[in-house]
Amino acid sequence: MFRITDTWRIFVPPAILVNMSKHFYHDIKLIKFCKKCGVEYRPARYTFFAMLGLCWKCRRPYYRKWYLEMWRPWFAAQPKEKQDQLRKAKLVNWKVWVTKNEIKRRKQALESYHRNKHKRKRRTTG
Ligand SMILES: [Zn+2]
Repeated sequence: MFRITDTWRIFVPPAILVNMSKHFYHDIKLIKFCKKCGVEYRPARYTFFAMLGLCWKCRRPYYRKWYLEMWRPWFAAQPKEKQDQLRKAKLVNWKVWVTKNEIKRRKQALESYHRNKHKRKRRTTG
């Protein structure tokens, strides 16, 4: 039996319908000004950063807000299987990142150690 959903699932648009200029003109940068602080920044054309309109410094609070207000409630609303699946995927990506950035990871771990060394309880002797 023919179902339209099956055809749409495998449908790949021909190249003429896709915006191919992105693949040929990677080096074009836009000159934009941050919405918050007005600092000039130059994102690549057609990227998320060009759309966002925030400079490098203003992105961090934006990401934090997005994480707390969007991601965490969404993640908490997911069933446990989905959460485990996402955690597993995150762990795989994390391990890949660690193998690629060993020096950064060592630095991060050392900072974490110094930040948390006072929180650890000593083992009581007796
Ligand atoms: Zn800014």
